[in-house]
Amino acid sequence: MAYEDEPKIIHQHINVPDIRKIGVYEANGGYSAWRKALSEMSGDEVLNEVKASGLGGRGGAWFPTGVKWSFMPKPVFPKYLVCNCDESEPGTFSNREIVLKHPHILLEGFMLGCYAIGCNHGYIYVRGEMMKGYAVLRQALAEARARGYVGKNVLGSGFDLEITLHTGAGAYICGEETALLSSLEGDRGQPRLKPPFPAVAGLYAKPTSVNNVETLSNVAYIIREGADAFKQYGTEEKPGMKIVSVSGHVNRPGNYECPVGTPIRKVLEEYAGGVWKGKELKGFYPGGSSTPMLGPDKLDTPLAPKAIEAAGSILGTAGLCIFDEDTDIVHVAARLIRFYKHESCGKCTPCREGNDWLVAVLRRLDEGRGKDGDLDMLLDMAGNIAGRSFCLLGDAAAAPVVSSIKEFRADFEKRITNPPDEKIFIPLSIANGH
Ligand code: SF4
Repeated sequence: MAYEDEPKIIHQHINVPDIRKIGVYEANGGYSAWRKALSEMSGDEVLNEVKASGLGGRGGAWFPTGVKWSFMPKPVFPKYLVCNCDESEPGTFSNREIVLKHPHILLEGFMLGCYAIGCNHGYIYVRGEMMKGYAVLRQALAEARARGYVGKNVLGSGFDLEITLHTGAGAYICGEETALLSSLEGDRGQPRLKPPFPAVAGLYAKPTSVNNVETLSNVAYIIREGADAFKQYGTEEKPGMKIVSVSGHVNRPGNYECPVGTPIRKVLEEYAGGVWKGKELKGFYPGGSSTPMLGPDKLDTPLAPKAIEAAGSILGTAGLCIFDEDTDIVHVAARLIRFYKHESCGKCTPCREGNDWLVAVLRRLDEGRGKDGDLDMLLDMAGNIAGRSFCLLGDAAAAPVVSSIKEFRADFEKRITNPPDEKIFIPLSIANGH
């Protein structure tokens, strides 16, 4: 079956002309779940339906959303729902497309989430670089308010709901939920110690659930069609669909929504048109650039958390980055570590100092000035960052370095023994991550 003809949830209407406008969204079934919830269901019933659907967090953790919501203590007010719209992982761009093309599906899911947990004031934290998305969301929110879907006594239900949009200032680390909450409160965007977890003490020290754009965008479907309809897709472990962002050396890069468990080969070859220029595949990141790289022998792995883990990587955000046979893996690793070094918030020593050293050693390797022992030193340094840092950015930075060396050690060794004739020049400002 052609990709266009395959069933979808979030992408079902994403290419309908003007679906960004509330009238078109409503004409395609939009806001019927919100109306249904307010007129026929209690907040607990919405929560239980989401729990029964098995929807897992699409931001990379895959933790069951309904379970996460049920952690919120009931008698404490106010409590908050915060939408994490700070998508910044290299190779991941599914949330951005939802916000730009289909903002009401996110808003409707967000409203349902607020209702489920008893939140009367929710926040959508939009990535600082995503100003166009912010403008689209602002327009969509104004339309929803004019329809009476937001505000006091929504649709005569007695439920009050306010939604505030907030932009970040362009920091990757604010995708980490506690750093996001710090930023939202007006502080520097740095991660907080857990526990206490946000469900206990989150925004303004009140119970808070932080959920990803794609996760929330599935909720209206679950309430409208029921948990069983959602569970007809995906695997028993993780039901539903996942939007896979395919980038790199492919013929048709883009976002493809497919059932969890779809083999990576199908996404690459059937949906994305295969590796470009008729070349062979060298390797790929299955879940964004912070996940360990896999080789072509892992192409038949299903896109499901446990299967990808068994293959030696992490599904994460399902940002599938494809590299063809001619890719200079040393350069890829050197470039990526500059990104993570630049985005390190500086709070803890292993990440702040360790990434500086990884940049320095990978830069000299990349430029053809590598020395014997550099690879083992890189692995040793990365081993002292991963698992020893305050938050997961440390692991994220170390993973592409370690996995690239493990998977393609011969490429790195060749760069030391046979440095390129033509020197690769990386401007110092870029090498330093600025
Ligand atoms: Fe900040 Fe990096 Fe430490 Fe996370 S691991 S707290 S990003 S310095």
